[in-house]
Amino acid sequence: MSLTIYNTLTRRKEAFTPLDPTNVRLYVCGPTVYDYAHIGNARPVIVFDVLFRLLRHVYGPDHVTYVRNITDVDDKINARAAKDYPDLPLNEAIRKVTEKTEAQFKSDMHALGALDPTVEPRATEHIGEMRAMIDRLIAKGSAYVAEGHVLFSVSSMPDYGKLSGRSVDEMMAGARVEVAPFKKDPMDFVLWKPSKPGEPSWPSPGGIESPGRPGWHIECSAMSEAHLGEVFDIHGGGIDLVFPHHENEIAQSCCAHGTDKMAQVWMHNGFLQVEGEKMSKSLGNFVTVHELLTGWHGYAWPGEALRFNMIRTHYRQPLDWTLVSLDEAHKTLWDWYGDVESHEPAHETPAAVVDALSDDLNTPKVIAELHKLHSAKRFAELRAALGFLGFSGKRINIERKSLGGGKAAESADVDGLIAARLEARKAKDFAEADRIRDELQAKGIVLKDAKNPETGELETTWEVAR
Ligand code: AMP
Ligand code: ZN
Repeated sequence: MSLTIYNTLTRRKEAFTPLDPTNVRLYVCGPTVYDYAHIGNARPVIVFDVLFRLLRHVYGPDHVTYVRNITDVDDKINARAAKDYPDLPLNEAIRKVTEKTEAQFKSDMHALGALDPTVEPRATEHIGEMRAMIDRLIAKGSAYVAEGHVLFSVSSMPDYGKLSGRSVDEMMAGARVEVAPFKKDPMDFVLWKPSKPGEPSWPSPGGIESPGRPGWHIECSAMSEAHLGEVFDIHGGGIDLVFPHHENEIAQSCCAHGTDKMAQVWMHNGFLQVEGEKMSKSLGNFVTVHELLTGWHGYAWPGEALRFNMIRTHYRQPLDWTLVSLDEAHKTLWDWYGDVESHEPAHETPAAVVDALSDDLNTPKVIAELHKLHSAKRFAELRAALGFLGFSGKRINIERKSLGGGKAAESADVDGLIAARLEARKAKDFAEADRIRDELQAKGIVLKDAKNPETGELETTWEVAR
């Protein structure tokens, strides 16, 4: 079976051949830990989790190393720490912010069915390697010291701009490049910078006496080298990282190592959007994973529905995040789970599902295959395929809670049965009402009847039996 992946570097789909099939190496840029992850941030996590699962299937679970870093040194972290814990020394406040955010990120991503990566290195654990890489770049003439900063000299990298396919003019316009008087070329970017008093700081490279801290791009070059070596198989992230972040990672790593590539394949997920615009903190059009899981528009969504809604769109396409599509995704899963949960999963994942995934993670095609299995009542295979994709296959896990005063508001079939039962009671057909109650009970749903204290009307709420 062959695996093809779209490579941003060559702008085409290519057959994937690992450098070492006994250790397939994947690096994905991880979160900057200062705030809750929004559902847009979850897109790369889910996309690359699907890839991780596929690679483990193809090469064996012990033959894939997946590294996703945690950026725990950043101006945004410092600002958040000072705001949230004004009475604590800054370094202590920063530790509180990063520990809390990292734990929240992990628990959110688990709820979305994502496996833990093999390694989740923190930037602050790799400062020594960053310093060493910066010194190597200075020694090779690819970086220089200026006013307490170390800058990467873009003119030392002949291929600069190859990944994003942009001219230097376009790059400058697109990236709102900071023009500092000490830069030799406006495109040169920061590898190391001075820390302000009280901010986290480490001994500096390049013979700079005052302590400082690394720039963002060097973190990923140092951490990927530490855990995956100088050249590895796949580097991933959201499309917004192509320039400048990934372009700069390539420049740093290739110049430091004297290699012509950093990773063989570069993969980028498209944006998750709201009404045509990228979901982002700065635009304020975001919803956090935590909110979706615990309460948004009066509902708490199961992580599996969020995951399913995400993979209905191919990872390179823009994805519009709407309540309607979330609801549809939830209903489909609820329906399938009702059928598959009493079946043991088939031994093998259906080949059509693995084949569709192997074609550049064609998850919409995978879902079409799942629909076919469902229509054909091949429930054991459907359950196996769902498990392969990170779904539990158990309805009990995908309850969508209504937070609107505890009133029943569930998927159409439960609502429909409750309404039918109330009709039966009104018609004094108690046998039919009890039959419906039993039918729901058999599905693990417990009904509760109570008079609404305001209207005096009988109302039925329900919950999933635990
Ligand atoms: P950030 O915290 O902005 O560095 O983003 C962390 C990861 O989420 C990166 O891989 C981003 O490319 C990705 N990301 C951020 N916003 C979106 C979005 N709206 N849609 C898809 N991916 C995103
Ligand atoms: Zn990175």
